[in-house]
Amino acid sequence: MDIEDTLLMIPGPVKVPQRVLRAMSKPMVSHRSADFETIYEDCRSWLKELFDTKNDAVVLSGSGTAGMEAAVGGIIGKDDKIVTVTNGKFGERFTELGDRYGTAVPLDFAWGTPFDLDRIESALEEGAKAIAMVHNETSVGIVNPAKEVGKLARKYDAVFIVDGISSVGGNEFLTDEWGIDIAITGSQKCLAVPPGLAMVTVSKRAEEMLEKGKGGYYTDLKAHLDKAKKNQTPYTPAVSLFYALQEALTIAAEEGFSERRARMARLAKGVREAASALEIELFPQVNEHSTYSNTVTAMKMPEGITDGQLRGGMRKRGVVVSGGQSGLKGKIFRIGTMGACTEADVLRTIQTLELVLEKEGIISRLGAGVEAASKAIDA
Ligand code: PLP
Repeated sequence: MDIEDTLLMIPGPVKVPQRVLRAMSKPMVSHRSADFETIYEDCRSWLKELFDTKNDAVVLSGSGTAGMEAAVGGIIGKDDKIVTVTNGKFGERFTELGDRYGTAVPLDFAWGTPFDLDRIESALEEGAKAIAMVHNETSVGIVNPAKEVGKLARKYDAVFIVDGISSVGGNEFLTDEWGIDIAITGSQKCLAVPPGLAMVTVSKRAEEMLEKGKGGYYTDLKAHLDKAKKNQTPYTPAVSLFYALQEALTIAAEEGFSERRARMARLAKGVREAASALEIELFPQVNEHSTYSNTVTAMKMPEGITDGQLRGGMRKRGVVVSGGQSGLKGKIFRIGTMGACTEADVLRTIQTLELVLEKEGIISRLGAGVEAASKAIDA
């Protein structure tokens, strides 16, 4: 099927609104001009609102991982320890980064299961310079307890680094209230910009620990922060993506940041209710400290159908959803509801899922999923 007719329902990159695409086609400006500085200033001030913070915000040219690397590489040196709490693929990336720049102390929970806060406290008691976690673990569709981990980070005086890449703008994300020293998001998720930018906020306390020349060269957070104070970047930024980010933040502000999150919450609830109506089990196990995600829903692959049949069948009908990563390949599938996603997008996705399930003999009648989703979304 033609890419233009395909509905992209993966948890990033997501479909990009026409307004944002048009903004990207504007003529180039010098990145050392007042024109660029105005754009960057505008983005930085919207980002503070989006992250719910008074901290400084910087934009790095690079995908979300560049932001993770800037955070870890800026804070951790070769003699430092960083506790990395994991329950999915992206948490494990923090462990790899921790070991690249210093020593990671991984606290691994089974993918898709909740954090055990007592174990986190015990690890911090041993002493670590920082602790890193993923708020919305995209690989499994769970929202982890940043607020509670933030309290522990304060208690043990550890720098608190949170990957909010698939969360900021979709789930509640309270950078200052939760004591997050370094928070990160990526352009291709809830903001619905093409991939290629990482947005990072940095607390005063963390900023004081950063040293120029420490960590990665291109991702040197201190160099980016120093330049950002003049609305400049250390190296040539991806200017067209900055146009896109400015437009996307304007669109998000027009909708209202909290209304936007509420929309994504309704859409994700629609997907979960459809799953329940179709007797498809949700993958993550949630408890009082963790919740299902507004931005991605992970579901177990129903018995009697393969990943190729389910996702391949949907793709043939023009809807692209994600599979499982690493050990979850073939075992789960995931539907994204972030960015500019609409009720119509979700209903088409569920209808397509039903068509495939019926064709493969998993369900006998069409409509239950669509009905449940539309009731939940309109409620
Ligand atoms: N962290 C989370 C939670 C993500 O969802 C992703 C991307 O899917 C990443 C990190 C990595 O970001 P990127 O692929 O933009 O480098």
